[in-house]
Amino acid sequence: MKHFSGVTGLPPRRFVVSQILFLLVILFWIFCGTGNAQKLAITFDDLPLNGLLPPGVTRVETTKNVLEILKKRHVPPVYGFINAKKLEGNADGAEALKLWAAAEPVGNHTYSHMDLEQNTAEAFEREIEENEPALELLDVNNSWHWFRYPYLREGDTVEKRRAVRAYLKTHGYTIAQVTLDWEDYLWNTAYARCVAKNDTKSIEWLRSSYLSTASEFLDLGREQAKLIYGREISYVLLMHLGAYSSTILSDALDLLKKKGFKLVTLEEAESDVAYESDPDVGLHDAGTLLDQWMQVKGIKYPEHAEKPYKEMESICQ
Ligand SMILES: [Zn+2]
Repeated sequence: MKHFSGVTGLPPRRFVVSQILFLLVILFWIFCGTGNAQKLAITFDDLPLNGLLPPGVTRVETTKNVLEILKKRHVPPVYGFINAKKLEGNADGAEALKLWAAAEPVGNHTYSHMDLEQNTAEAFEREIEENEPALELLDVNNSWHWFRYPYLREGDTVEKRRAVRAYLKTHGYTIAQVTLDWEDYLWNTAYARCVAKNDTKSIEWLRSSYLSTASEFLDLGREQAKLIYGREISYVLLMHLGAYSSTILSDALDLLKKKGFKLVTLEEAESDVAYESDPDVGLHDAGTLLDQWMQVKGIKYPEHAEKPYKEMESICQ
């Protein structure tokens, strides 16, 4: 029998033990790395579809592609917030929404994407109710009592804010807050236009501007959380299901991974106590929960690059 001993060699047992120890250190390191990762829940708004589509592309196709990516990448359940009015006379949209609901959870985003700043609390509440029959039909698991405010506008007066919040509470809803947002919807219609024009140079620019903006606003959101709460929180990311979603989603997921985020469900992200507090004031177009707190607390924004609003409007016109 050959022994693993000699002048320089280790005895077999010590050799095995040192190997096991090495493996344990590596596993511990990996585990801690994952354990410390910042939790993030992805959510999609404006289902069945936000913005325009390129000619010949259907909502069903777009939705299918996005669902495939989410499944392939093992993303935990992703809430899609629906506006049932978009289904009226739109078989493609209705079919797309059925596909989504068969694979991922759905939530309420009002019937017609109503702006609370332009309407009364009562009209807004009617819109929440009007959206419910579609949710009931789509969701056999009855897990649709999550509400996302259109335009993230939660009330321009404190009375409106409180009235709608009270309504939501009475009707069993949890508010699906947003704490990270790079306004990805800006790229949906722009992409549809550029594809229609077969403008490959502009399409390449859309990709680089999307990823640099996403990176910038992920970092900014984390800085905001530290300024507000003195720590990082579990985040909720807002995305919009549209023409560009299936093209860019894999890259966006890679970016989130590179930034150290661990994807979780909306329920898990919002179990962070940060979501228990409410600024409780009337605000005009205040943005994410973090943006609202920055405004209320009078905290100065860290330096950051702005979103390319002008370029997105003019590209491929
Ligand atoms: Zn929306």
